[in-house]
Amino acid sequence: VAKQPPSSGSHVKVVVRVRPENAQENAGAFRAVVRVMDENMLIFDPKEESSPEFFNNRRRRGRDITKRQSKDMQFVFDRVFAGTASNLDLFENTTKSIINSFLDGFNCSVFAYGATGAGKTHTMLGSEQKPGITFYTMKELYRRIDAMKEEKTCEVTVSYLEVYNEQIRDLLSPKGNYLPLREDPSKGVMVAGLTFHRPSSAVELLSMLAHGNQNRTQHPTDANAESSRSHAVFQVYIRQKPRTASVSTDVRVAKMSLIDLAGSERATVTKNRGARFREGANINRSLLALGNCINALAEGKSSGYVPYRNSKLTRLLKDSLGGNCKTVMIAAVSPSSMTFDDTYNTLKYANRAKNI
Ligand code: ADP
Ligand code: MG
Repeated sequence: VAKQPPSSGSHVKVVVRVRPENAQENAGAFRAVVRVMDENMLIFDPKEESSPEFFNNRRRRGRDITKRQSKDMQFVFDRVFAGTASNLDLFENTTKSIINSFLDGFNCSVFAYGATGAGKTHTMLGSEQKPGITFYTMKELYRRIDAMKEEKTCEVTVSYLEVYNEQIRDLLSPKGNYLPLREDPSKGVMVAGLTFHRPSSAVELLSMLAHGNQNRTQHPTDANAESSRSHAVFQVYIRQKPRTASVSTDVRVAKMSLIDLAGSERATVTKNRGARFREGANINRSLLALGNCINALAEGKSSGYVPYRNSKLTRLLKDSLGGNCKTVMIAAVSPSSMTFDDTYNTLKYANRAKNI
């Protein structure tokens, strides 16, 4: 097996989260195709002999591994989380470390990437009982701000929008209208008409997010009844000012974006026709553009050109990717052979992102 080094640069952290097997996967004759070896390594499609317990008394369906060679590929990431990991574990080992950079004035972005059903929303948003990393990140941020309140005043505002069908909608003020993306010479990228909110606590934020999420565009498709075809972008802006400061040049601003991406499964997997098919094409446009930006960033600074302009999502995140920005990529995968290709594609995508 070819060994791959973990991310070299410190600007991007790539982690993989393998969720527990769900009831459908458990009931069917599927096998585990992701084997977590340790905190940094997993093996995709391990050889039969290296995982005999997964084959005992299980009928094989779909991919008959006796007819083809196992890929038996080793992947190394900054962190690999097995099914036993909690959202708090995810927070502790992903976004917690970028809060310092955020408070130092750097833009940060956190992506959840993966096929529908792989665990993106569970990781980012979670539920009331099991809040996701957005909640923990905000909770920690409020704690940090409170700890430095003697020296600084901090203003925190948040926004929550979705990019659906290459159009932007405010999830916290859903009047249904599409908002235009503008490039302001002084403020940079901005969504005209987007509402900004000031939750006073992480708990208040949680209900705000839950409400916002209900406004997300969801359409049942053949592939998954809960398929989410929109990219949900939560952004938190901080404006810090030393209490002693008299001039506005001492103001420090930064933005953190937490993005629950649309499902990465290919549009061809679902039997989409007509309107749905166009949605698929447009979702792929933003995801494809994001992939191309990641590729361009991964190839190094020498070429310089990063195609941010190719989609709404990448235009929106132009000032939050690359450069001095801190990025965390959370690749969510199912452990089951039921979604063999999706998992393989997600791991390849995540592996590519390590080079940024
Ligand atoms: P996605 O947003 O990627 O489409 P979800 O986050 O909605 O996927 O997850 C699909 C289902 O699996 C949900 O019912 C979710 O609660 C469950 N799930 C996902 N990840 C985990 C996990 N780590 N532990 C337990 N259940 C999970
Ligand atoms: Mg989701």
